[in-house]
Amino acid sequence: MKTGLTAWSVLCDFDGTIAQEDVTDSLLMRFGRPGWDVLEVDWREGRIGSRECMAGQIALLDCSRAELDEHLAGMTIDPDFGRFAAAVRDARAALTIVSDGLDYAIRSMLRRHGLDGLPIVASRLVQVAPRRWKLEFPFSAADCVSASGTCKCAWAGAPRVAPGTRVLVVGDGASDFCVARRADLSFSSKRLLDHCLDHGLPHRAVANFRQALELWSAMSAPRAGHDLLSSPGRGSHP
Ligand SMILES: [Mg+2]
Ligand SMILES: [Zn+2]
Repeated sequence: MKTGLTAWSVLCDFDGTIAQEDVTDSLLMRFGRPGWDVLEVDWREGRIGSRECMAGQIALLDCSRAELDEHLAGMTIDPDFGRFAAAVRDARAALTIVSDGLDYAIRSMLRRHGLDGLPIVASRLVQVAPRRWKLEFPFSAADCVSASGTCKCAWAGAPRVAPGTRVLVVGDGASDFCVARRADLSFSSKRLLDHCLDHGLPHRAVANFRQALELWSAMSAPRAGHDLLSSPGRGSHP
């Protein structure tokens, strides 16, 4: 087994993980025309995938770009995400933001925090009229088991990940379930933590990027990365 951290590929969720709120939900609550909540229930109850849900919901947004930008400017990210991203970069490991959310929102929020330049895999928000938007899915997959807007599972294996690379997922929700099943390790919170516990997936519980950073730093000790991997599903304390 390789030592050190350079052999890790880190896949990081955005909404509820980097962003402290779910950005899409906050936009819908403020600018959504009636009907978006019906789609949300259909998705939660498994009648539609997140791709169909999000496409329908974004078509119901009623806001100008200025209103969108103003809303995004009021949203916060985890104050320690930048330090975590820097530590991953310093270890020369790869960090990719893999999100079922909106590329425009992610880019805009990260830029405001001086974090532009990170690779982003997400659905594409396109303006189609002064107050109308649509969502495109450059990273969906026809065979995606969860019918997601972005098929996250595709990012946990070949050809996206080179042989010998270990995959670390950082996430919090249902959109991370599939990729966490394929990952070597997850830093999990909220619903993803329950999922990892229920299915015996290798994970550590983290509440925020301060804790994720502590774990990442501990993994740079000579045998620590191996030890973290050798106890799948156990020891959820950060
Ligand atoms: Mg999330
Ligand atoms: Zn998928």
